[in-house]
Amino acid sequence: MLVFVSAVLYVIHLLGIPNFKIMFNFLSMQKIIAAKCYQCPNCAKTYKYSASLYNHVKYECGKEPGFMCSFCSYKTKRKHSLKDHLIAVHGVEPANFI
Ligand SMILES: [Zn+2]
Ligand SMILES: [Zn+2]
Repeated sequence: MLVFVSAVLYVIHLLGIPNFKIMFNFLSMQKIIAAKCYQCPNCAKTYKYSASLYNHVKYECGKEPGFMCSFCSYKTKRKHSLKDHLIAVHGVEPANFI
């Protein structure tokens, strides 16, 4: 009887270790997925931080560019992109007029 129990425990041991490893891998995978799991409900974009997704939904997703350059036809959805554009292309310090 004791031999039988030992045999069963041995089988559980053999089966149990791989299952545990699979479980462990599965949890690790979930952590990796969770690290970049903030997906936009409107498109396929994913973000690492909820704040990035929030900004995407609020300012970018399905929106028309709201910031226009006064010097050329450049349009952008982000205020800081317009600032970068003004400095890089037109050499203008945006703080002076925005
Ligand atoms: Zn989106
Ligand atoms: Zn411009």
